[in-house]
Amino acid sequence: MSIATEQRAPGFVLPEVTLRIGSTSRATGSGTHHHINPATGLADATVPLASAADVDEAVCNSHEAFSVWKSTPAVQRARALLKLADLVEEHTGEFAALATADNGTPARTAKLMVGAAVEWIRYYAGWADKLPLGRVTSVAGAGGSFGHTLRQPYGVIGIIITWNAPLMSLAMKVPAALAAGNTVVAKPSELTPFSAMLFADLIREAGIPDGVFNVVTGGADAGSALVSHPLVKKVSFTGGPDTARKITAECARTFKPVLLELGGKSANLVFADADLEAAALHAAFMAFGIMTGQGCALPTRLLVQESIYEQFAARVAEIASSFTVGSPLELDTVCGPVINQGAIDRIESMVAQARNDGARVLTGGSRLGGELADGYYYPPTVVADVDRQSELARQEVFGPVLAILRFSDEADAVALANGTDYGLSGYVWTSDAKRAMRVVEALETGEVVVNGAPNAVAERPFGGIGHSGNGNEGGLEGLEEFFWTKSVAYGAN
Ligand code: NAD
Repeated sequence: MSIATEQRAPGFVLPEVTLRIGSTSRATGSGTHHHINPATGLADATVPLASAADVDEAVCNSHEAFSVWKSTPAVQRARALLKLADLVEEHTGEFAALATADNGTPARTAKLMVGAAVEWIRYYAGWADKLPLGRVTSVAGAGGSFGHTLRQPYGVIGIIITWNAPLMSLAMKVPAALAAGNTVVAKPSELTPFSAMLFADLIREAGIPDGVFNVVTGGADAGSALVSHPLVKKVSFTGGPDTARKITAECARTFKPVLLELGGKSANLVFADADLEAAALHAAFMAFGIMTGQGCALPTRLLVQESIYEQFAARVAEIASSFTVGSPLELDTVCGPVINQGAIDRIESMVAQARNDGARVLTGGSRLGGELADGYYYPPTVVADVDRQSELARQEVFGPVLAILRFSDEADAVALANGTDYGLSGYVWTSDAKRAMRVVEALETGEVVVNGAPNAVAERPFGGIGHSGNGNEGGLEGLEEFFWTKSVAYGAN
């Protein structure tokens, strides 16, 4: 099969990318961006770039819809969100194909991710008519007045997401915001516009009123106009730290609350007493087999105890080199392309720097050519003996590159794990339950996964600290992000 000529499955048609405002759908803006298929390097669609006026129209429309949506009976909101979950599930194949077209997610992973998105939508649909509306304080307990708290929706939420998981990112934010009674203007990444189009269609089909979910396509300018709009009452952002700094600075001007889901350099601590084969399979699969290393929470720093270091690193490299790299359309593909030429440049530069810093590349380490030359393909790359202070040990690659470092004992492992500015995820492999509990408590991260347990579930919160951001998606915490609290007291008459 020639990757360069085959762009997508036969019969599959990309949706037209349009701004979705109220009942309207239009492909006009202040300019256009060409979507490039990462598997082929070819432009395959035009993305309209929303102007500040377009964003204003979307926000004002969503603001009008807020008065309707917040007073819609909760049970009706719940039903509509449940219907949305069913519709997304019914369109699993189409969403998976869109993810592959959006960013080259391998077909098998793409399908699994739609399933995860459905679970998140269903989870928050369940909350919509069981909202934790507040706390009552008795007369005796609150200085002589009866009172309670009221949880109130903000109004229009500005949602800005990145390109690595376009449907999942929407599913982690939008249902929680809508369940709480807010409305949303979403701006998907200009690099991955397709999934949001079908999501918007299905929101409508689910009976959610026009304007409750609007989409503005575009890049930094559209995002910036959304953040600064006075009728946007809270911003929920997923993306990189540089953009997060700009958004936070803009929000600071008007004290607008902002939730930040940013990057990570998550450590995976493997102790000599662990189930080493299970740990090696997990380490390789998590670093490369989920979105080709382009995930914020992936364990991209493998910390291995000295006594098992060489054999463990060699086994991880062996597993990684067995992964099929190729067209995301093929069901046996484990690693697809990375997002664009910029990603290839960054990965090549970081691997070259690691080599200069004295690291050993055990497998991978250069861009793939041959029939994959036109797409953005970089193989699973395992780099051992990474210096603790080096760029590769401390900075996110956001690509298929795993850094391996050695540690001596538990204290050394924890200090090494906590030694970056990030604080998103931590992974621990040990058969010693007491050690697991000590390390769980010691890691400065938003989540910790012990012995490969699945944790990307809607019921538990997900979010980071430090340069990984603040706030949560998932669980009750993820719902509470979309309320402000009013304290109410009643006098005698
Ligand atoms: P980015 O920050 O460049 O872009 C993200 C979004 O912000 C895009 O929609 C973009 O158009 C928009 N944007 C750009 N400039 C803007 C501005 N000035 N104002 C408003 N919006 C603006 O994202 P990236 O760096 O390409 O994304 C990768 C990063 O995302 C990585 O660091 C990754 O770890 C992180 N990420 C985090 C999570 C999480 O949940 N924690 C999930 C996925 C990705």
